[in-house]
Amino acid sequence: MIDAAIISTGDELTTGRTTDTNAGFIADRLLALGVDVVAILTVGDRTERLRWAWTEALRLAHLVIATGGLGPTADDLTTETIAALFDRPLVTDPEVAERIRQLFKLFNRPMPENNLKQAAFPQGAVIVPNPLGTAPGYRLQVGTDGDPRHIVVLPGVPREMKPMLVDSVLPWVATLTGDEPIAYRTFQTFGMSESGLDEAIATIPGEGRWSFRANFPEVSVRVTVRGRDVEARLDAFAREVYARLGPYIYGEGDTSMEAEVGRLLRDRGLTVAVAESCTGGLVGHRLTNVPGSSAYFRGGIAAYANDVKEQTLGVPRALLERHGAVSEEVATAMAEGARRALGVDLAVATTGVAGPDGGTPEKPVGTVYLGLAASSGSVARRYQLWGTRDWVKLLTSQIALDWMRRHVLGLPLLEIGRRTPAAASPGRESVAPG
Ligand code: ATP
Ligand code: MG
Repeated sequence: MIDAAIISTGDELTTGRTTDTNAGFIADRLLALGVDVVAILTVGDRTERLRWAWTEALRLAHLVIATGGLGPTADDLTTETIAALFDRPLVTDPEVAERIRQLFKLFNRPMPENNLKQAAFPQGAVIVPNPLGTAPGYRLQVGTDGDPRHIVVLPGVPREMKPMLVDSVLPWVATLTGDEPIAYRTFQTFGMSESGLDEAIATIPGEGRWSFRANFPEVSVRVTVRGRDVEARLDAFAREVYARLGPYIYGEGDTSMEAEVGRLLRDRGLTVAVAESCTGGLVGHRLTNVPGSSAYFRGGIAAYANDVKEQTLGVPRALLERHGAVSEEVATAMAEGARRALGVDLAVATTGVAGPDGGTPEKPVGTVYLGLAASSGSVARRYQLWGTRDWVKLLTSQIALDWMRRHVLGLPLLEIGRRTPAAASPGRESVAPG
């Protein structure tokens, strides 16, 4: 197993104007290759800070991947710093220089001389092509023969950096980690905490490396397998993961709850509608974020005020007066009203106290009811959620989508956080089962 450090450079990062997305992207991909990422260092565009970062990173790791500071301007110092630090003269690559000249000609623009700076590389560097920009990246072996270290330098612009990393750098990193074949699968889950997931799968036998990523309100679980028979061993892991987590897994790989719900509804030719109070249209928004959602989403009614619930969804006034808008009875009536009004197979309703005000001892902030109406009948359930207003809304929308998914698949509805804090720590214990 090889260890790596990541360096992100740029004043835009240290001043907070730009969020560092590069480091996370790189770390995630390295982890998938079984590389142990030991540190991520972020520094501004100053020679002495760059020297510090490179020195520390190489003290910690055998592989260092850096982004930023490859541009043509005076504040782009990465290459100069590396040349000086490792005592490698800068050598101009004629092919890269020609390509830069050609690019300017192509766009009919005069080329400022300092652009050729991007064609100069520390001696011994192997160029990493950049199909989408002028500045290529490079890699370089430093250190000693007995203790080789590898550095990789890529541009800061994420849309240039990503394909360079994926197409050129990662295949090479895979050779560093040995010729061992490696494979991984990522399961997207909702409804169980990270620790709950860990407990459930920790005892799965076999040599695999598990990693968890909490991205409120979901957690993804990845298993990485290396060595002999990777595919067969990975399949065995996956079977066991499904056996243990089954209903909590909504998809695999790069997907989203709304995309999976959409796929299920479309496959079965079902239509849906929503009646939203506390989510104010968020469920409909998420459903319609998926291209092609018109095939199954008929519409939504954001019925916030009580008289709107009465008039547009036909919720009886007596129910509202007797039980309050945040109640099982009203959630059911809202879902049934939406199903009737919009003529769909399936309707889901949300009503709750998103906070920060409006809580009572019986219905504290975070009390949410969901309702579902289908040809098979109606159901409503109370959830006690936790967190700020936007969290309660997001989590409620997630549960609503998960209800659709579970209903279509004939799975029991999600059991979470009955009157216990559903999220003990943000993004981690996002939803504690039962
Ligand atoms: P260029 O040749 O385009 O100048 P560069 O290697 O010099 O490339 P930078 O100037 O450091 O790259 O960054 C270019 C842009 O990329 C920045 O304005 C910033 O918005 C974005 N960027 C840089 N680093 C990161 C990062 N770590 N995460 C996200 N975006 C970044
Ligand atoms: Mg820069």
